[in-house]
Amino acid sequence: MIEFETVTKTYGDGRPAVADFSLTAPSHRITVFVGPSGCGKTTLLRMVNRMVSPTSGRVLIDGDDVASRNPVTLRRSIGYVLQNGGLLPHRTVAENVATVAILNGARKRDAVARSGEMLELVGLDPDLGRRYPAQLSGGQQQRVGVARALATDPNVLLMDEPFGAVDPLARRELQEELLRLQRELAKTILFVTHDIEEAFRLGNEVVVFRTDPARGGAIAQKGTPAEILANPADDFVRSFIGASAGETPLSTREVDGRRVVFDPAGRPLGVIDS
Ligand code: ADP
Ligand code: MG
Repeated sequence: MIEFETVTKTYGDGRPAVADFSLTAPSHRITVFVGPSGCGKTTLLRMVNRMVSPTSGRVLIDGDDVASRNPVTLRRSIGYVLQNGGLLPHRTVAENVATVAILNGARKRDAVARSGEMLELVGLDPDLGRRYPAQLSGGQQQRVGVARALATDPNVLLMDEPFGAVDPLARRELQEELLRLQRELAKTILFVTHDIEEAFRLGNEVVVFRTDPARGGAIAQKGTPAEILANPADDFVRSFIGASAGETPLSTREVDGRRVVFDPAGRPLGVIDS
């Protein structure tokens, strides 16, 4: 469980990026932060692994204040996946996956050997481990980023627009892969996106942000995808989920007793488990 307790972050210019933000992200679930650029999503994510310190308030993981943890060991115990993969270009894929395990004291040979299993786990051929990141497609690089984040079997996974830079088809595959992995691994995941469809597809809980120039990012609505779709809190949320002006890009319908989400073309996006 990750708890944000009335956290505020004010950077140099004196305006808060986020103010008095409180939220509990449950264990073993995917909580998605979705909202416009600049609403503080990355700031909040980085508070969890202490890459950003809150100006006030606390962040707790399973009841422990992260401020009381050594930042280096804390960071190595949390998986972190970035939009551009963040892979080291001059290291092989296998070495990239093994990075944190080696930092944690594993023998290099063992860690590199184990990286093959991690590549398989994310649906890649272990032979790709011998290549360099630039020799992979964007989607493959993101899978490697996920494999690296999972290599030390962390309980918590932070994912900051991890699929934002890949083409729609690869993105869809990565989303399916993440859901498959999550059924197997049941990590506590904070996932950031600015794509509402991705948020609804992946999130057990979705937190929709708005941003106010004076007060910074704040929660516009939180709930399950079904709750938000069924009852958008206000016009901002309604327009953000595309339900304004008579359009209903996403909708839900009961099918055989289950809630199914449909895209504007009427294609089912998935089933919401409530
Ligand atoms: P998001 O990830 O939702 O786009 P961010 O957390 O990156 O939002 O940014 C929130 C606000 O904080 C923005 O106004 C941004 O310009 C500001 N900000 C983020 N990081 C820094 C920083 N290191 N120094 C100064 N301002 C920052
Ligand atoms: Mg960001």
